[in-house]
Amino acid sequence: MVAGNWKMNTTVAEGIALAGAVCAAAAPADGVDVAVLPPFTHLWAVHSVLQGTGVRLGAQDVYWKDAGAFTGEISPAMLAGWCDLVLVGHSERRHLFGERDDEVGKKFVASLAHGLEVILAVGETSDERDAGQTFAVVDRQLDAVFAQLEGAPGLDSWVIAYEPVWAIGTGRTATPEQAQEVVAHIKQHVRDRLLADSPRVLYGGSVTAANAASLFAEPDIDGALVGGVSLRAEEFGVIIAAAAPRDSA
Ligand code: PEP
Repeated sequence: MVAGNWKMNTTVAEGIALAGAVCAAAAPADGVDVAVLPPFTHLWAVHSVLQGTGVRLGAQDVYWKDAGAFTGEISPAMLAGWCDLVLVGHSERRHLFGERDDEVGKKFVASLAHGLEVILAVGETSDERDAGQTFAVVDRQLDAVFAQLEGAPGLDSWVIAYEPVWAIGTGRTATPEQAQEVVAHIKQHVRDRLLADSPRVLYGGSVTAANAASLFAEPDIDGALVGGVSLRAEEFGVIIAAAAPRDSA
């Protein structure tokens, strides 16, 4: 899977053009689940562009209530039925906007309840890594979500994105070995806690056309969540091609 998080970039017109260019760049790569996550203002227009292309649509965030006096928020009920995915727990939400682990859990459960596929982002800061707390941090972030799952609909439709905060938008990519080590840990943690198979786990953090193939060569890395480079369709297309199963690449 290769998903592009556009963050707070592009006008609506630019976003429509970018979505068309991504579809063209993604078309030759069979067997890769490709998604774009434009800003909320663009979702409906980009939804039209993506029709029939196989490229899926995602939102970058969501609130956990269905409706009500929550000025500025967007609910999962508003996205359900036409938007495929929603990203929750991105480090910019956690660190710039103070989103807590339990709030991420509420967003996760509410999105699943509305049939949205959830990309759950987890990852440690550089201080946490230096203090040897990487596994403890991702475990805590995952467990906060799992704590809210009781009574929630089946967990058949979710993806985890391991995104070390120190690698996001910094040009400092985790080495394939560093990413593999944490992704393997995450998968084992999910299996231990949920007594079920782990979903796909993506790596995110300064993924480029130059480093994608070496990350995808690791046994547990199932794709990438891409920020900056997802705004450049041609380079994003190279990342998509690098994720293609070998016999269709
Ligand atoms: C992201 O925003 O999820 C991300 C990984 O950003 P970048 O690729 O720019 O580091």
